[in-house]
Amino acid sequence: MAGTGVFADVLEGDVYKYYADGEWKKSSSGKSVAIINPMTRKTQYKVQACTQEEVNKVMESAKTAQKSWAKTPLWKRAELLHKAAAILKEHKAPIAECLVKEIAKPAKEAVTEVVRSGDLVSYTAEEGVRILGEGKFLVSDSFPGNQRTKYCLTSKIPLGVILAIPPFNYPVNLAVSKIAPALIAGNSLVLKPPTQGAVSALHMVHCFHLAGFPKGLISCVTGKGSEIGDFLTMHPGVNCISFTGGDTGIAISKKAGMIPLQMELGGKDACIVLEDADLDLVAANIIKGGFSYSGQRCTAVKVVLVMESVADLLVEKVKAKVAKLTVGAPEDDCDITPVVSESSANFIEGLVKDAKEKGATFCQEYKRDGNLIWPLLLDNVRPDMRIAWEEPFGPVLPVIRINSVEEGIHHCNASNFGLQGCVFTKDVNKAILISDAMETGTVQINSAPARGPDHFPFQGLKDSGIGSQGVTNSINMMTKIKTTVINLPTPSYTMG
Ligand code: NAP
Repeated sequence: MAGTGVFADVLEGDVYKYYADGEWKKSSSGKSVAIINPMTRKTQYKVQACTQEEVNKVMESAKTAQKSWAKTPLWKRAELLHKAAAILKEHKAPIAECLVKEIAKPAKEAVTEVVRSGDLVSYTAEEGVRILGEGKFLVSDSFPGNQRTKYCLTSKIPLGVILAIPPFNYPVNLAVSKIAPALIAGNSLVLKPPTQGAVSALHMVHCFHLAGFPKGLISCVTGKGSEIGDFLTMHPGVNCISFTGGDTGIAISKKAGMIPLQMELGGKDACIVLEDADLDLVAANIIKGGFSYSGQRCTAVKVVLVMESVADLLVEKVKAKVAKLTVGAPEDDCDITPVVSESSANFIEGLVKDAKEKGATFCQEYKRDGNLIWPLLLDNVRPDMRIAWEEPFGPVLPVIRINSVEEGIHHCNASNFGLQGCVFTKDVNKAILISDAMETGTVQINSAPARGPDHFPFQGLKDSGIGSQGVTNSINMMTKIKTTVINLPTPSYTMG
């Protein structure tokens, strides 16, 4: 159970502690932040509201710890990460329990998130050993005007202190996707977990503690992003920010100093359906892509752009599948569970009302109870409706009927987002042309958008992000190239 057994140190009274200098601590603020259970809408957990002074101390320790960690052999860093991965997987049940209670993740998906995270940590350790163990060797006489008098050796060195800020929807997986590459590359890491999801993240951090990482190398400070976020992201001790979330990331990019940024932000992933598509396959992918975890995924299908000639048939098939989705508590592993907060539910409702006023066809009756919103397919959505462009982050999916492929591509590219997109057709040649034309970081052919497998490159264009994730890209992003040049008095080939 959460906060008990091996996790007992994380909790004191009814408030979870923050992690600094290898210890679980209470904040001197004497204040806590409540985490509201999306299902019951009552306080489920409380976490420390850390102070700026505590953040300063954490940054100082992170800086000191990083210096010796960078000198720790690569194989040893990998060994510790493998250990943490095993501990994380061993304790999947209590961590999954937190995910169920604080972000209403369906029970089975919650377990999957923890196991997937352990696998990601191990994979990153292995990948790090390979790619950080190699460098480049260059000779000077390949550049015009030079003799072979210079040997250039390149290697990858850590950046220093990495600040990791994940979002609520994958508070464990999107935290380890930053922690593991940072650590294997010789950096230290400060984690600011999302408030909804903080307790799951604190339990995950405890698994790294149990693995025996050096003091100060990993820290986890809690508090509301709106209160401590700016102080953290503008802190002079931070050498790199890896952020996943919504528009907040755009604001952070404008305020952060001259440091590398990895930003994975929102999306409005389009699903373009051509006349020759396998409509059963499309319907199955729309359900999985649009409604799993109640649509609260960055790569959820967020707009369907279907050719008019097959639209009626597709909508009927999707409607039949929507009717089978179970709605209710995450503990019961329902398909549709409450969205994360009341304000999120209100936002979604605003989009639904706007679509109603402007004449969208409701394939189901709109139904809401607290944060629980029943799955809703909106047909005949037009570009003047907000839902055509905005990210609901809930179980509401718009369908726009198109008369040409060009119209679909135009809608997709007119979005300020460019995370992923997908196209369904049996004509692979056409699919490739469409993929090239879509201004998104990834295009899936004949499948719904997805972030995984976690080692695939993952990136957004436009307002969807800066840089690229995926294990290799994250390790590279959290390092800098260092070169050493050996200067010879004569060209190296003059002897013999
Ligand atoms: P969010 O509101 O942007 O919050 C993300 C993180 O930022 C949270 O940890 C939050 O902490 C923190 N934060 C808030 N204000 C801050 C500030 N001023 N400075 C620094 N940090 C601050 O996003 P969310 O609601 O958690 O997640 C949903 C969004 O994430 C969606 O737009 C979704 O598309 C996007 N997302 C993108 C990806 C991707 O890889 N592209 C993956 C998953 C989700 P608090 O919780 O304490 O406010």
